[in-house]
Amino acid sequence: METIAATGLVYAFSVSDSPNGLDWIRFAILVAGATIHIQLTQRQEERRRSRTKTVLIDLTAVWIFPAVLVIPVPLIVALVVIIRGQRWFTARRPAHNFVFSTISHSLAAAMAHLAFADLGPQDWTSLTIGGSLREFGLVVLTAAIYEAIQIIYVGGAIAAASTTRPNVTTILGSKADNVLEAVTTGLGAMTAILLVTMPPTVAIMAVVTVVFNRLAELDQLQSDVRTDPKTGLLNMRGWSESAERALSRTSRADDSLALLMIDLDHFKWINDTFGHPAGDDVLRAVAEALGQVTRPSDVVGRFGGEEFLVLLPDIDHTAAKLAAERVLHTIAALSIDSTDKRGDPTTISGRTTSIGVALHPRHGDTLEALLQAADSAVYDAKEGGRNQVRFADGSTRRPPPED
Ligand code: GH3
Ligand code: MG
Ligand code: MG
Repeated sequence: METIAATGLVYAFSVSDSPNGLDWIRFAILVAGATIHIQLTQRQEERRRSRTKTVLIDLTAVWIFPAVLVIPVPLIVALVVIIRGQRWFTARRPAHNFVFSTISHSLAAAMAHLAFADLGPQDWTSLTIGGSLREFGLVVLTAAIYEAIQIIYVGGAIAAASTTRPNVTTILGSKADNVLEAVTTGLGAMTAILLVTMPPTVAIMAVVTVVFNRLAELDQLQSDVRTDPKTGLLNMRGWSESAERALSRTSRADDSLALLMIDLDHFKWINDTFGHPAGDDVLRAVAEALGQVTRPSDVVGRFGGEEFLVLLPDIDHTAAKLAAERVLHTIAALSIDSTDKRGDPTTISGRTTSIGVALHPRHGDTLEALLQAADSAVYDAKEGGRNQVRFADGSTRRPPPED
């Protein structure tokens, strides 16, 4: 892949104009803006990166995209190297990652520049309304070309290196990633316009990008606040918010709803026998299983410790009983690969569960009341010998025999 890119770059260098005095001034302004942006967001970018699991959107497109539009290939590549270099020195990532991302950014930027030059842009300082509309179209088209080359190149490398079958999200990124990318490129286009028409105002863009970088982190923090890091399920805060919404929808529609409180039996024994890492593996496996046996509209969360909550909207007594029993059997059927106290592989299976069920409106019409009712039903289930489903009104639901 790097050979393809190097060939492309040699070609781009050979056909591009060589920089004149104005190009050098614009280059210097972009270098200054990018340096301010990078230096003021270094630590925060590190935090953001360590949390991102899919493709990383690089906000420095705010500086690279204007270069695509207004300066020739040698200076575009120099800017990319300066930007990547600054990130690399503090990020201390493996050198081949740095080389690969520098080459892919350079290639995409150089090719997009050649395409834009071929489309015949006009002088931006003396545009008519109609002319500016055409120019706007060219900028959007160039942005699309720039994105497409990156997606094909980076996506190709991910697909080639991936051991599992890559899906659309690992290559294209999530919807939020793409919105972020589009906004970043849009800011880059604005930087280009300022650079050509009123260069000192690029300083404003430097401030905007620093703030924008912070906003991108806030967005991520917002979802982190609702998530339990160990299992990836909603934590109590996130679960309560979603559950309250589901509950008020149900109340308005005069529907019924069920709350399952799921407590793993003798969980402490797992920790004592195999160690806490094994206990964590069990929690993760149970969380994954809960995700699989529930519907998308169900609200699944970790209540704390080894207790889970599932809110099932739009469900009656019989269906709630079946759902709870399905959870009980699914957990009992899990065979979880883990390690024992010495770190040797072991398999944990046959875990039983006590489940308390509270129904809306029968056992309460607030979340608090339902939690209270489900909790005391769990207590009844424990008292009754564990490995069973109990309803809040005390009726026993022993699991039907396995078939
Ligand atoms: P019971 O059948 O009565 O529910 O017994 P139990 O052992 O499951 O319940 P108990 O409340 O006595 O113990 C719960 C244990 O769960 C104690 C605690 O150390 C453990 N635990 C809580 N959170 C975690 C966690 O995140 N990871 C691990 N490995 N253990 C946890
Ligand atoms: Mg417990
Ligand atoms: Mg327990």
